[in-house]
Amino acid sequence: MDFDFTPEQLELKERAHKAGMAWRGRHTSWDRDDASPYREVTESMREAGLLGLTIPTEYGGKGGTALDYVIVVEELFRSSQSWILGEPPFCTTGPGPSMVLLAEQEETRRKFLPDIVNGLKGCAIALTEPDHGSDLTDLETTAVLDGDDYIVTGSKRFITGSPENEIYAVFARFDDIPGAKGVGCILVEKGTPGLDLEPGAQFVGSRGLPHGEVHMHECRVPRINLIRGAGGFSDLMTAFNMERLHNSIYSLAFAEAAYEETVRYCEERKSFGRPIIEFQATYHSLVDMHVAIEAHRLLTYKAAVTAIDSRFPRPLDSTVSKLSGATMLPNLTQQGVLLHGGDGATLDFPIQRLHRDAIAAMVAGGSPPVLRNAIAAQLFPGHRFRQHA
Ligand SMILES: Cc1cc2nc3c(=O)[nH]c(=O)nc-3n(C[C@H](O)[C@H](O)[C@H](O)COP(=O)(O)OP(=O)(O)OC[C@H]3O[C@@H](n4cnc5c(N)ncnc54)[C@H](O)[C@@H]3O)c2cc1C
Repeated sequence: MDFDFTPEQLELKERAHKAGMAWRGRHTSWDRDDASPYREVTESMREAGLLGLTIPTEYGGKGGTALDYVIVVEELFRSSQSWILGEPPFCTTGPGPSMVLLAEQEETRRKFLPDIVNGLKGCAIALTEPDHGSDLTDLETTAVLDGDDYIVTGSKRFITGSPENEIYAVFARFDDIPGAKGVGCILVEKGTPGLDLEPGAQFVGSRGLPHGEVHMHECRVPRINLIRGAGGFSDLMTAFNMERLHNSIYSLAFAEAAYEETVRYCEERKSFGRPIIEFQATYHSLVDMHVAIEAHRLLTYKAAVTAIDSRFPRPLDSTVSKLSGATMLPNLTQQGVLLHGGDGATLDFPIQRLHRDAIAAMVAGGSPPVLRNAIAAQLFPGHRFRQHA
């Protein structure tokens, strides 16, 4: 087992670091105003060659690996301290484009991937509904075939990038088939009559780009936009594991940022005439933070390195690493807030924002109990039980 990056990976890391540092310091106003120059950020990522990382070159991607994705996104998050910097790689490489790669028809890949991969059209994941989140196989949004089109009707909420993005990978129930067997995915494009996009609720963290609502009232969507219909759910989840990997990287990088901010504070702040880092309780806390980060790093890198075709993270590894991050990060940032004393409760230090970002990340991509259920189903297949009432 080799823990060193190759020269190519080190170059990629350095490039991502520079691209992230170019936006360093902007997070304060993005967080305060809940708005960011998302298009400009995407453009700068394109110039740095950081889009479409795992997508094959024939569709305009870089043809790289899931580990390349981890290297880039970790460095972008960490150097910029903003989740916005991870969005362009996510939208051009993550679950959306990865699902399009699995589309039933080559025509669908040719129609959508080049624009998505180049960052010209952002692709959001529209899964969660007002009445269905964890129980994603109970979705009420429907897609009904009518001639050469599907008629899509339903509502989604908490959709990252709505109303900014141009394409929505909508999970819907096909052919009225109940349960997971009926769930498929279809791409609904901005401008489709009947599609209404709204900014939605304000979030405490992950601010700067809305997590909005998507309302579809009898949207007529051409058949070529279909990724997978009924029966395609488990394949779609294979691509969706990029979402879990992304969440895991988020936790890793934001933990690193919180650790760096906290060490800096503890070295500068004095109490009883000495820097507080010289109190044993303080540096033991910092060591615990370091150990938590290093353990989570290994799970994140493992989920990337074991990806199928170097592109689709495996269900067990990606879920384990996502769960590790979702539980580790809020504990770690809370420890960071505590070590900042009263300053941690003010808006003057980055640690409070990192803590709010940690809270926002806890359930995005699946809440910890639901992830535990998914892991248990794989570890103990003989002891599965019905979740439904
Ligand atoms: C920052 C952020 C970004 C997001 N981005 C997107 C996006 O881009 N696209 C998208 O589709 N969604 C997105 N989401 C939505 C997210 O995926 C859901 O919030 C999440 O899956 C939980 O669903 P829910 O909010 O409906 O909670 P619920 O499912 O109502 O869960 C509420 C509570 O009940 C618990 N619970 C539910 N079922 C079980 C069970 N079987 N066993 C044990 N406990 C259970 C949960 O763990 C949770 O604590 C985002 C959310 C956030 C916070």
